Order: sequence, then structure tokens, then C-alpha cells
Amino acid sequence: MCGIVGYIGYREAYPIVIKGLKRLEYRGYDSAGILLYDGKNLKVSKTKGKVIDLEEKSSNEITTNGTIGMGHTRWATHGIPNDANSHPHLSNSGELSIIHNGIIENYGPLKEELINRGYTFSSDTDSEVLINIIEDVQKKYKLKLGKAVQVALNQVVGAYAICVFDSKKPNEIIVARLGSPLAIGVGEGEFFIASDASPFLEYTSNAIYLEDEEMAIVRLHKPLKIRKIKDDSLVAPYVQELKMNLEQIEKGGFDHFMLKEIYEQANVIKDTYRGRLHADKGMIQMAGIEDNLDKFLYAERIIIIACGTSWHAGLVAEYIIEEYARIPVEVEYASEFRYRNPIITNKDVIIAISQSGETADTLAAIKLAKENGAFVFGVCNVVGSSISRETHAGAYTHAGPEIGVASTKAFTTQITVLTMIALRLAQAKGTMSATDFQKNLQELQLIPEKVQETLALTEVIAKEIAAIYKDVPNCLYLGRGYNFPVALEGALKLKEISYIHAEGYPAAEMKHGPIALIDEKMPVVVIAPKQAHYDKVVSNIQEIKSRSGKIIAIVTKGDTQVKELADHYIEIPETLDAFSPLLTTIPLQLLSYHIAVMRDCNVDQPRNLAKSVTVE
Ligand code: GLU
Repeated sequence: MCGIVGYIGYREAYPIVIKGLKRLEYRGYDSAGILLYDGKNLKVSKTKGKVIDLEEKSSNEITTNGTIGMGHTRWATHGIPNDANSHPHLSNSGELSIIHNGIIENYGPLKEELINRGYTFSSDTDSEVLINIIEDVQKKYKLKLGKAVQVALNQVVGAYAICVFDSKKPNEIIVARLGSPLAIGVGEGEFFIASDASPFLEYTSNAIYLEDEEMAIVRLHKPLKIRKIKDDSLVAPYVQELKMNLEQIEKGGFDHFMLKEIYEQANVIKDTYRGRLHADKGMIQMAGIEDNLDKFLYAERIIIIACGTSWHAGLVAEYIIEEYARIPVEVEYASEFRYRNPIITNKDVIIAISQSGETADTLAAIKLAKENGAFVFGVCNVVGSSISRETHAGAYTHAGPEIGVASTKAFTTQITVLTMIALRLAQAKGTMSATDFQKNLQELQLIPEKVQETLALTEVIAKEIAAIYKDVPNCLYLGRGYNFPVALEGALKLKEISYIHAEGYPAAEMKHGPIALIDEKMPVVVIAPKQAHYDKVVSNIQEIKSRSGKIIAIVTKGDTQVKELADHYIEIPETLDAFSPLLTTIPLQLLSYHIAVMRDCNVDQPRNLAKSVTVE
């Protein structure tokens, strides 16, 4: 999972590639590299570190002119992040070069074979093996570059999005994908290549997304040719018009993308239900659900598959769907599901959740479910992503581009979509009275306003609390019912961006273990809005108090009982129990954000993480 940018045309490639890499840095950021061709010379500069380090190094190391360029930000899978392992990689002759996103799983035996035949390697990467296989095939069978790439790809096992360039044939770049995303921007007399469309938005709004197992010869002044890697058949290019704009992906005055994205939640929740939730007509209308209503209504169970934050959204959905629509729901980690030989039948409906729509484990789980006859429904944010294409039907969240690695607005918009699904199913199954249904629609429509109010109520106090606890080594998060998944998500957010160890637990589970950890140094964040089981949560808080733990409580406005017990509290507006995660999550996001900033952590690009996990 890394960022790839390529350019071939009439403009200077350097600024396009560097700016593009910065936009893609969320995908991986342990090293970066660039290659330029100026009509005569091939110039390569690469370094461990960020794109900004590459910018500095390359401007001293190479001349930056040239109208062909390829760049890469790496998220290492084979070989530590250092200069030598950074991309691009050159073949032994020095003529061919590659940037690669993904993993070549059988690189070991292939590398051995090449070494036996005299090839040498200057990095530990699988990618350098791939470019030498391509060279080997090209030389052995005297093939054109495109053909050589195709033959080589048929020998490798793994995942890839690649750009390959031959300095002896400098009017084309060969691209291919399997498992990792790749978009081609089509301009007048120029082409852009990138992991997603953000690097070329200001130059063209015409994009072609390569499908898995497809490759393309991107040649100047020639129409684009796309072929299937396996059987060489031609594929008609489908040019899509992009709707994203540049402003959407820039910081808009906030210090970090994460903060901007936290603040966008009121609007994007509205965007997500716009045109789907019609409280005035007493209707929820989602094409993907309406067209497949029977599949859901006759489903014996729904299995939700996801990873990370999306998995937490899935847990919230489990509570809502079971409560409202009375359909049994199971929530699975995609990475476990895909390998544990699960029982799947054609009576199962699978809901796959992923912000990027590229999560490798979720994609593999989808394929497995489809093979076993299940109907698969996707909930993704990125339009045209692999999961949106791989599923039978789906509903997009309309969160807009999420750049901060720690997911915020994707989570709340996923819950919004899943809540609408639960409501529509409840209505269709008759498991909810018409009055309750109407009450729910009206309340859901008010959520953006309440999110806005939550942000206003939370910001200052979250910062104050952050200042007190920013140096603690551990933190516990507790919640019950709909807010148990929120406790998990709160703890994950703190871990991800501040590197403080945190655990989320169902509040009542505390006495089965974690209570042993509580002393006067342990902050415990308790999500305690005034709703079902409130009294039970109050008792849990008493238990923590009696052991001198520090309580940070999330309470409903007007609460008195918990406020009295807590060391600190943050208020949220009142709402229906099922919708409370959309509000209670926000103070936890802000708390983590401020703690991370105060600890000088890189909030938008936390160490060791990447935004879209396209490797398993
Ligand atoms: N497997 C390659 C490497 O380790 C590419 C990793 C990536 O996708 O950034 O260099």
C-alpha cells in the first residue's frame, strides 16, 4: 500500500509528481522516490523519509527537467525503509524502471533463479525482482515492453499496481493492476497515472480506473489500449467523469486533516442521507436496498465483514439491525473470516464495510462469500473502488475524501448508512411501528445539527482534559449497548495517533479483569449518556471511583448523577439510544486529537500506519 504517480505529456513532470505524491502520502510514507526522463537522461532520486525529504534531496541530486516522470511513496513490505529499498527500482541493464505498490509473494524463488543466472540486486525488495523478471523475459524472447510485462506478470503471485518505463522506448509507460488500485487521468496530449485521482484533479476530470488483472499501454498521441493480463483480450476503456474537487482534499484552514474531517461530520452525515432519508414522506429510499429488498428480508442472517474502525461501525450496526429489524447479525474481522473456513450459504447476506473500498482482507472475504453463493452488499466511501465493483450491490457513504489516517467522518457516515438500512428493513419487515419509524426518521434528520452542537460543547473541554492526561501510559474506555463499540473506537483512536496504550471494554466486563488495572493513575473514559442501562453504568462508575480511578464521562446534557461522580465530563445533546454513537464518538475523537497534538505526534500520518490497507 503506497502511493504511485506517473506523468507522460508535454508539461514538466517534476512538480506534478511531487505534488501528487504529497496528496498520496496518506497511503504510505516511510520512503519516497522519483524518476525523470528529459529526452536523453534517466534521472533517479530516492530516500528514506517523507516526500518533503525527497524534494530536498532530489533538487540537489538531479536536474528536475523532463516531461516523463514516475514517483512513489513507500510502505515497506520487503526490506526496511532505507534509500536502497525505496522505489523506483532499475533493472540490471539500467534501462527498465519500476514503481510498485503491493507484494510479490513468490519473489524468493524467482530471485534465486535470477541470481543463478547472474543477476544482481541492490535492494531487498520484491519489486526489484519483478523488474528484472520483466527484463529477463524481454531479452529472452525479444519482446516489446508491454508483452514482456504481461508475460512476467503471468509468472508472479501476489498483488500489484505498477508503472514500468523503458528509457530505450521513452514514449510510453506500461501500467498494470491486481489487487492494488490504479487510475489513469486522460488529458489532451498527456496522461496521468496515480493510485487515486487526487494527484491529477486539477489537470483533467476524465479518469479510467483499471480493473484487476488489466494492464494498459499508456503511449503519447495514441489511444489508450487496455488488455487482460491473462488472455491478452482487449478491453474497451471506460472513461469516468470525476466529481471530486481540489478544495475537498486540502486542509481548509485547519491544522490537520483529521481536525478538518472531525468538523466536517455534520455536513457529511447530511450528504450521506440526502436523497435517501425523506422524513416528510415517511420514507427511506436507497437504490441498492430497494433493488435487493427480498434478499435482505429472506436472509437467515447478515454477516458484516470489516477491519479496524469499519469493524466498529459494523458492531454498532449489529445492535441496530438486530434491535430494529430483528435479523440475526454477526460481525467478523475480514482477516479472520477469509481464512477460517466459515459457513456461508446462499441464504446469507454479507455487508462489507471499508472506507477506501480497497482493504485487501475485506476484498478477499467478499470473494470467498461470493464463491459460496452469498449476496454481498458493500458500504464504501471511495467511488469506483475495488469493493464497490466486486460487490453485488451497495451504498456509498458520502464522506468526501478522508485523508487523515485515523478514520473519523468515515466512521460516522458508515453508521449513518447502516442505520438507514436497519430502518428500511424494520419498516419492510414490520418490526417497528409506523409511529416509531417516523420518530426515528425525524431524529436522524436532526443528527447533523446535534453533531454541530456536540462539536461546540466539546472542543474547549476536550483540550483541557487532554492537557491533564496527555502523559499517561494507559487509558481505559468503557461503554454499554450501542456505546460499547464506541468505547472500542475511542480506544483505537487514542492508540493510533497518540501511541498511548488504550483498551475499550463493555462496562460490565470491567470486573472480569481490567478492574485490576485501576488505581489513582488510570484515567477511565466512560460513555454514559442517559439511555437504557444508565443505572448500570452509574454502578460501574462507582466501582471505578472506589478504586481511585479517574473518571472522564460523556454524559447527556442536563445529567446530574454521573456529573457528580466524574472527575471531568463532556456533555452531548439528547438523542435516541440507537443514534447516540453518532454523538458520543465526537468527544472521543477530539480528545485523542488534542492529546496527540500535545504529544507532538504526527496526527495525520501516525507511525507504522497507512490509510488504505491494500496488503493483508
Ligand atoms: N513490496 C514493495 C516494497 O516493499 C512495495 C511496497 C508498497 O506498496 O509500498 O518495497
